[in-house]
Amino acid sequence: MPVRLPNPELDFVGQYNRLSASQVNTWKACPRLWYYEKVRRFVMPQIPILYVGRAVEEAICKTLKESPSLIVSSAPADIYAPTPLDDEGRPDRNYDKKWPAEQLLLLAKSKWPTDSDSLLEWANQRVLSHLTVCLEAMRIEWSKHDRKAGDWEADVDMDRCERMARNGIRLHMDEVNSCMKTVRQEEVDAWRAGKRDFWPAPDGRGYSIDVHPLAQTGPVTLIEAWEIARPWFVDPDAKPFMMNAVHPEHWFQGEYDLVYRWGGQKKIVDIKASLGNSDRSGDYVEQLRMYAYLWWITHDKEPVDSLEIWYLAADTIKTIEVPSEQELEELGAELHSMWSQLREETPRIERCPPDPAPMRSFGPGGVPSDDAPKMSRCQRCDWSHVCPGGEFKDEHPNGGSFHLPGLVTETEGTPLDEIKTRHTVTGQVHAIISGNRPRITIAEGNSAFADVQIQASEYKDGGPTMPEDLKKGDVVCVENAFFQINYKGALILKVDPFARVVRMQDGDEEISLHTPRARWNIIGTVVYRTEKRGVSARGDWCRKGLMLMDEFGSLKVEGWQADWGTQYDMLKPGDRVVITNIGIDGWAALTKGEMYRSSRLHILHD
Ligand code: SF4
Repeated sequence: MPVRLPNPELDFVGQYNRLSASQVNTWKACPRLWYYEKVRRFVMPQIPILYVGRAVEEAICKTLKESPSLIVSSAPADIYAPTPLDDEGRPDRNYDKKWPAEQLLLLAKSKWPTDSDSLLEWANQRVLSHLTVCLEAMRIEWSKHDRKAGDWEADVDMDRCERMARNGIRLHMDEVNSCMKTVRQEEVDAWRAGKRDFWPAPDGRGYSIDVHPLAQTGPVTLIEAWEIARPWFVDPDAKPFMMNAVHPEHWFQGEYDLVYRWGGQKKIVDIKASLGNSDRSGDYVEQLRMYAYLWWITHDKEPVDSLEIWYLAADTIKTIEVPSEQELEELGAELHSMWSQLREETPRIERCPPDPAPMRSFGPGGVPSDDAPKMSRCQRCDWSHVCPGGEFKDEHPNGGSFHLPGLVTETEGTPLDEIKTRHTVTGQVHAIISGNRPRITIAEGNSAFADVQIQASEYKDGGPTMPEDLKKGDVVCVENAFFQINYKGALILKVDPFARVVRMQDGDEEISLHTPRARWNIIGTVVYRTEKRGVSARGDWCRKGLMLMDEFGSLKVEGWQADWGTQYDMLKPGDRVVITNIGIDGWAALTKGEMYRSSRLHILHD
């Protein structure tokens, strides 16, 4: 099965602590690179090409989901209604009304493609129509990203995108043609009788059907071959990361692109919207070997039959040899030890040395090449300007005192890894405002009040984030909330999935509302700047920010444009800065600093 869900009873690892193929490849490329991206959470510049790949793959999957017996080539891209999803965001196994394909009338047979060429022509038109929509959706997503880089108009070559999408369709058509010629009659008969996989290939229909509505008689027809050859892929309407295959012991997970299963085969395909002539082609081979392991361990040690990388810009398939049983055993042991090293407990920076692997050379189609790589890994690394393996030859700050212009006394900076981001306080419920996002006012005597904002209803370990029957006068403990003092001086506690409000029990210790510290001074090296713009009812808005690092920690700091002051526009990555009087905000595992009107940014000069 291409999807294997975690068992909540036995999953002591959790979704965010599993190892993935991309983490393994990043670690092997350079442990310090892994540390920056996975522990410090540095986000690489978001260039359009990253989004183009997703758009091309999505356009191909949307086309494969459709049927030429239901949809004419010129139909709008959204002809299928959205797939009904369950609460988790997966196609709903219990949905008993009409699925998207069942809402469409069968086309007259005279409109069906009659041969392989006309079917290819239909699929090409469909994929181009989906591509336009998918690219526009990606352009919008890219334009909203605070790490947006590059120029969409200049960097996205529409002809190249169309070529890649058509190449993907043609490679799939080879499967359809092969199915047409070689599929066994028993398989066709079973499909006609309504046989479906437990995780069927997305085709706009439900998990079980009776006689297939497209069933014909006699030898397999072209329309049937299109249906039978359809691979499994993540339904483009499903919520991200909900269709993973999770290791039985829960420490590894992956999401396959395409899994072909017709003819009894088990073939995993990874789609790459690229030429395949970069160092990353080495990663892709390892990724597919890891997927072969994942399939094997989730299928009672039955191996896959074949592994392929489709390089759409090169219009070629690279076949990867399926690892032997012994290699799979060894790979599993290596991955498990890597999970222990990286995810069981987060390693400190000293255990992630700046030790880059040599660059590898490949020609188009991922063919290994003897040409010397043009650049070293550090030269092309996004973090070279802050990494001792790259250009950074200084030391990062680690808190300490600093003297700011205009101030007589020194200001004390807190090391970033010592900022206490979450706080616990107690108080008596003074008022409750219910609604989607309830708010509770808690009081300490008659003098101190705090506004508790319930921003998530479910606690991370299950159960509600506040008692449903809470009433005025109850004495409560607000555990692990983000604590802020707003510009009016009001105390605010934000309850996300990692925080909760519980009733206090006899003997529980009281913790004053005055205990938490809300404002911090920090010092660090600028890794990059961020910027987000938009329009609201009040007019244009702009949030600016920066990622700051010191010796042992990092923090993203964000604020409204006006709160940053004049020095922000002079900032360069690699500069050392001091920021005073910031607040702390966040959501779940992500913590960020918040600039206020009273916060100040200073660039420190040598
Ligand atoms: S600059 Fe070099 S050593 Fe540092 S993270 Fe990048 S690849 Fe690794």
